[in-house]
Amino acid sequence: MSTRAENKEPKTRNNDLQNSQSKILWGIIIGIILGTMLGGWLPEFAVKLKIIGDVFLNSLIMLVIPLVMLSLIVGITQMGHLKDLGSIGGKTVIYYLVTTFVAALIGIIAVNLLKPGVGIQHGEDHPDYVYTLRGEQNRTVSLHEAGWNKSNYSDKYVVILTDQQIMGMIESQTDSSLTVKVWEGIEDAEKVYIRAEDGTRLPFVRLNGELTSREPKVELSGRGVAVNFGVSEHLQGKERATFGNTIYELLAGNKETGKQGMVPSNIFIAMLHMDILPLIFFSLLLGAALSSLGDKAANAIRFFSILNDAVMKLVYWIMIVSPVGIFGLITARIGEAGGFSLFIPELISLGKFTLVVIVGLSIHGMIILPVILKVIGKQHLHTYVKGLGTTLLNAFSTASSTATLPLTLEGVVKENKISKKTASFVLPLGATVNMDGTALYQAVAAIFIAQVYGIQLEPVMQIIIFLTATLSAIGAAGIPEAGLVTMLIVLKAVDLPVEGLGLLLSIDWLLDRFRTVINVWGDCVGAAVVDHLEANR
Ligand code: ASP
Repeated sequence: MSTRAENKEPKTRNNDLQNSQSKILWGIIIGIILGTMLGGWLPEFAVKLKIIGDVFLNSLIMLVIPLVMLSLIVGITQMGHLKDLGSIGGKTVIYYLVTTFVAALIGIIAVNLLKPGVGIQHGEDHPDYVYTLRGEQNRTVSLHEAGWNKSNYSDKYVVILTDQQIMGMIESQTDSSLTVKVWEGIEDAEKVYIRAEDGTRLPFVRLNGELTSREPKVELSGRGVAVNFGVSEHLQGKERATFGNTIYELLAGNKETGKQGMVPSNIFIAMLHMDILPLIFFSLLLGAALSSLGDKAANAIRFFSILNDAVMKLVYWIMIVSPVGIFGLITARIGEAGGFSLFIPELISLGKFTLVVIVGLSIHGMIILPVILKVIGKQHLHTYVKGLGTTLLNAFSTASSTATLPLTLEGVVKENKISKKTASFVLPLGATVNMDGTALYQAVAAIFIAQVYGIQLEPVMQIIIFLTATLSAIGAAGIPEAGLVTMLIVLKAVDLPVEGLGLLLSIDWLLDRFRTVINVWGDCVGAAVVDHLEANR
């Protein structure tokens, strides 16, 4: 459906778009430079600029639900026959599964060949060291005639008194002593954390409905200490995630949290939770019903179609201001990471891991997907990528496939002229379930952690990692660092230490951006492939 206003504007629109794309590129570059400088010297100020990024991000997310619903309703009504939907759906699912499997496989091959985890220290274990506890509330562990291997343990690490089965997050360190924030039992499964005024998290358990402090009684001396990564705050309470309940939630929802499954019981709750899959399902049905009504529904279809054009107009307006928003996002994030002085040493210490992830993502994004685009999608790579410049830069800046979705639709439908009936189905579904970059990352990260801990992985374990990395990537939400949480599923499937994730925390926010670009790029290639196959059916 085209309005008169739209017919008049293509030329200026193309120029504007090109300008806006180069502005975004500059926005990112300036954001990175300023963010690094501000983060290094005035980190607190850099973090305050987060407001600019957050407002921008909200404005994009605001459009996701109207756009998914409207474009799907309109897309379905443009299908000649409802059989088309089955055909598009089948091709989409096959494309998504195959490409995600290929991505995970590339990750597994790369990490086995380059072995980034070999030689990295994860902590130390001394069953023979004798220690005494002293200091305020007996929280300082002093060693007898022994020292620690490393002199800069931070609060990413915990010290464990192995004979007493207690642990505490490290607060400070001297040559032969470590002070912890608070002691907690290792075995307490259902801990609840409450934050004290100074920011320390205190462990509690629920006993007879009441919260009771869980700081255990400690013996003042003993034998056997270890230092290891702590399970990060980010992942606390998520340890119970399993592959089964992640997929169950995706399909049937979760009554406790209100999350809606693929078939929703309430579409407004689905909107509230940004659960895209149930909204896809509902919109498909509504579109199909409108189509089946014939002429009677013509006005309603026209109404949705005009509304859809209006929301696309909003996307375009947001794109114009996106350089400023992206500047805010990047500046604050680098500030939060502490700029070069804190972040670069972390990055260097995990340089080989970072390299393996980026090489793997590049092979998938620059070789495999382009070949598929050319051979099956019959698109010209250069032209197709050019139309998606804004989309991919946004994916990098927001680290969210879902927040990028409005721009993905804009880039694929408006810039690359892929039919709305295909794109409006393939892209929202892709933003939710198709995560090639995440699958690759999870496979690399799991095997990397095994290498760090010196754990030998039998071929069958590698196959399990390959399968769970793919399937848990499908279950990961299209939001920042979702892949880190679903990593737990992969690690637990082969019994790898969950603490190993502590290693990746400081750089995950950066690698997340690269994998999100590949996730979105995979969706865009999928739209071209399915569209071409449909057109030549
Ligand atoms: N941030 C990614 C995305 O939105 C998901 C992930 O964490 O891997 O696509």
